[in-house]
Amino acid sequence: MVRTTAQGLGADDPFAPAAAAGIHRLAIPTPFAVGRVNVYLIEDEPLTLVDAGPNSGTSFDELQRGIAGLGHSLVDIELVILTHQHIDHLGLVSLVAAHSGAEVAAIDAAVPFVEHYSLEAQADDDFARDIMFRNGIPEDVVSALQSVSQAFRAWGARAHVTRVLRDGEDIGFGDRTLRVHHRPGHSPTDTVFHDRERRILLAADHLLKHISSNPLITRSLDGSGERPQALVTYLESLRKTREMDVDLVLPGHGDPITDHRSLIDERFALHRRRADKIHGLIAERPRSAYEIARAIWGNIAVTQAYLTLSEVLGHIDLLLNAGRVREVERNGVAVFEASG
Ligand SMILES: [Zn+2]
Repeated sequence: MVRTTAQGLGADDPFAPAAAAGIHRLAIPTPFAVGRVNVYLIEDEPLTLVDAGPNSGTSFDELQRGIAGLGHSLVDIELVILTHQHIDHLGLVSLVAAHSGAEVAAIDAAVPFVEHYSLEAQADDDFARDIMFRNGIPEDVVSALQSVSQAFRAWGARAHVTRVLRDGEDIGFGDRTLRVHHRPGHSPTDTVFHDRERRILLAADHLLKHISSNPLITRSLDGSGERPQALVTYLESLRKTREMDVDLVLPGHGDPITDHRSLIDERFALHRRRADKIHGLIAERPRSAYEIARAIWGNIAVTQAYLTLSEVLGHIDLLLNAGRVREVERNGVAVFEASG
């Protein structure tokens, strides 16, 4: 295993510029397909962790070892900042806070989910089940996926948020200031943190280098029960991030991004192409979102059923908003047909 220390990073390590700015990446294992999650230790006053990793003994051990390798101890952590509600980032927050007495900071939108994790996760699963039935996913796939989700739930945990962050506010440190921006889309609570002086953006899963961030359809925060247009929201958030002056984006998974505008333009092009492809499939004949997902990806693993459905519905939303398709109902299932 590569030992990551402030002194030990080679010049060719993509995280070396971050380390030089006192931001150290700790890659914490997760049980998810995405692989390790990036937790960042900010060496400043207060000593801060950005995210904590999933709730498991292995992850906790690695987190403690990583912090020790940087010459600190878990009990020295004074602040934990949460980037969004997903359990690979959130699960260990409460354990870290319990051991260190650290403050826990999260954007206002995330507080209900974080504080009532089990209830909220169950409500998300119920919402997802309704969306899956509505969009033609067979009952056996839905119930298998619900079991998987239940099994994964213990990788998250509730945490008490002691400091509620607002969009646009500054978090002051001894040696830096991070501006808080709410950038929903991948989840309803995605938050990015901008060091304007150093032109660094802590972006978590809002922008990833190696994969496009999944605009997961998640129960909306207003409690309306309407299906939110997650991809539409995500693209609006990306447009705002594209305008930011940053040289280095530190993501929640994988390597840093040094040219965020090109990467965001690639993402825009990808989503345009995918929307056109889905429009083509719908123009051939009316189809449900599940039929479209099968036409694109073939046999879909149970664990991927909701991700791929979110992906398809996101692009259908773009087509619906542009007036290129319309939704009709067939035996209680939403079917999309071309309207121009
Ligand atoms: Zn993640």
